[in-house]
Parts: sequence; structure tokens; C-alpha cells
Amino acid sequence: MSTPVPQPGILNINPYVGGKASAEGGRKVAKLSANESPLGPSPKAIEAVEKTVQDMHRYPDGGAEDLTAAIAEVHGLEADRIICGNGSDEIISLLISAYVGVGDEVLYPEHGFLMYPISTHAAGGTPVAAAETNRTTDVNTLLAAVTERTKILFLANPNNPTGTYLPFSEIERLRAGLRDDVLLVLDAAYAEYVMRDDYRSGAELVESHDNVVMTRTFSKIYGLSALRIGWGYCPPEIADVLHRIRGPFNTNALAQVAAVAAVRDQDHVDKARAHNDKWLPILTQGFRGMGLEITPSVGNFLLIDFAGSGKTAAEAEKYLTGLGLLLRAVAGYGLPSCLRMSIGTDDENHAVLDALRAFLDK
Ligand SMILES: *Cc1c(COP(=O)(O)O)cnc(C)c1O
Repeated sequence: MSTPVPQPGILNINPYVGGKASAEGGRKVAKLSANESPLGPSPKAIEAVEKTVQDMHRYPDGGAEDLTAAIAEVHGLEADRIICGNGSDEIISLLISAYVGVGDEVLYPEHGFLMYPISTHAAGGTPVAAAETNRTTDVNTLLAAVTERTKILFLANPNNPTGTYLPFSEIERLRAGLRDDVLLVLDAAYAEYVMRDDYRSGAELVESHDNVVMTRTFSKIYGLSALRIGWGYCPPEIADVLHRIRGPFNTNALAQVAAVAAVRDQDHVDKARAHNDKWLPILTQGFRGMGLEITPSVGNFLLIDFAGSGKTAAEAEKYLTGLGLLLRAVAGYGLPSCLRMSIGTDDENHAVLDALRAFLDK
């Protein structure tokens, strides 16, 4: 061997492919492929970034202290358990680097977020997917898949790309069935969208147990995807471990000030949630009326199944893309007959309804 060789597992990675952002010819498109907020960020976040741009020759606050304090205050959490990351993707990756080595297993539901297997391979670990039931996380199959080598169990609640969620009682049952040395990571990227009495993001479980972490993001309802900022809520020992291995300036200054302004502007969050609440049922019923199967979603996106429609998801994607309507193919998530649509603006949503009606000739 005369060339450098990467660590085991790295060449097993199928690189993450983000949602499409453009169409041929540079035409204006409706980007409904990445679960971004159609309302964009809070105007206060934009203002904060504009001010801070002047100072971009300065290193950021490595500990993101203002942001940590703002998150703690707004959510009623303990600041020393919070760690900010370059997107919640970074928190996922830090957890895996810290707790998973060659031969260890990382468990997640069948249609789980692709960053779990990607970061697991990067650490030389083995990703293990447990079957879902009705496109919903199944606590029994997850618990049955735990082995001596299991180090972390990742659970997005609500899950992307299915949009389904587990009630808190099921999360508690899952934790109670896990060994204390298996880390349960509750990925609550879409928590702000869920207004169900039986749903909780999991912060109280973090506070009451040493093996539970919750991750959150500013990329979705807060509309700050471009800045890459998320956070984790951890047992203090785990926060300490992650702080040791993170880069000293892992979150940038513009992201920090934007996120502080955004988390303090809960009126903007309420607006984004209200827009989503208005459209979820309209789109769900609209697509069902065309004979498409729609998985009940509590997120800001819908999983549209073309099986039984007489057309394939690939044909639908091609048709929609031709009209500048960019949805997300989800074959990589084990759902080859489906497309995922993020809830867009009023005009974008009407355009997709009209387009699919014409495509299916309904
Ligand atoms: C979008 C998403 C994330 C967050 O990503 P960021 O790195 O914070 O932008 C995390 N988990 C799930 C399930 C997601 O869909």
C-alpha cells in the first residue's frame, strides 16, 4: 500500500444529498425539498446578523454563552446542560464520535434520518435499522434490536421523512426498556410544530436520566438553515464530553446572534406554526382526494405515496421538477414509491395541488 488509507467505515458512506434547490435554465423554483420555513427567519434575526456582519473579523464566542443563556431562559432549561452546534447535525456527529467505535452499533428506526448511518460509518460503527409499523417508530422492534454492542439509539420525534410521532408515554417505555449504558438521543428537530397533548420533546427525560440527550435545531421552524445552528440538551457529564471534543469555535458569530434574536421572537414561531397548521389538513385531504396515500404528519412536510396511483414517484418528480416544483425523492430512506413535500407558501402549495391533479388526470 502506497497511498493514504482512510479509517474503516468511511468508504461505506453514501454521501448525504440535500434537497434540490434549482431547476434547469435557472428558472424560479419552489424549493419544497428541505423542510425549510416558507416564512423565512424572524426580521429580528436578520437585523441582528446585519449588525454583526461589521465585526466578522472577530472570532466568535467559543462557548456561545449568550445563545445558551437565551435558550435556557426561553425554554426554562438548565444552561450547563446545553451545547450549541454547527447545526444539530454536528451534535449528532459529536455524540457518535464520543461514544461509538469500531464494531459498535447505532440503532434507529427503519426510515430514520440519514445522518445517523452516515456519522456511524464515519466512526467505524455499524448502523442498525429496526422495522417500523405503519411508517411509525415501533418501540418493540427497537428494544428487540438492542445488542451488547449497541451504544446509541437515535429517534427523531416527529420523524423525518414520515412525519409521524410517538406519544411521550412510548418514549418513556422505550427508555425504561434500555440498559443504562445505552444512550437514547431524541432528535426533536420538528418539536415546535407539534401541538399534541401527548407529545413532549423530551427535556424532562434528559433531566431525570443520565442516558438521554435531546437535540434541537434553528434550521426548521426558525428559518436559519443557512447559518447552521442547533443545540443539544444533555446530562452534565455528556455535555462535558461533547465540549471537550467540539471545535473551539464550532458555531459562528452570525449564527449565534441570529439564533438569540430568533429564540426570543416566539411570535414569529407562532406565525410559522399557524401557517403549517392551516396547510397540513388542506394538503393531506387534497392529495388523498386524488387517490394518493398520505402518511399522517405532525411536521412541516408530507410523505406522498404514489403506489397504487398508476404512476411512479420518479415520474411524478420529473413532472413536478419540469414545473419548477422541487419535492424530495426519498428512496434513500427506503421509501422508493414516495416523495416528500415541505409545506410551502400559499402559492407554492396551490401550485403543487394543481400540478398533481393535472399529472394524475383527476
Ligand atoms: C433537518 C433535520 C435535522 C437538523 O439539521 P441541522 O443540522 O440542525 O440543520 C436533524 N434531524 C432531523 C430529523 C432533521 O430532519
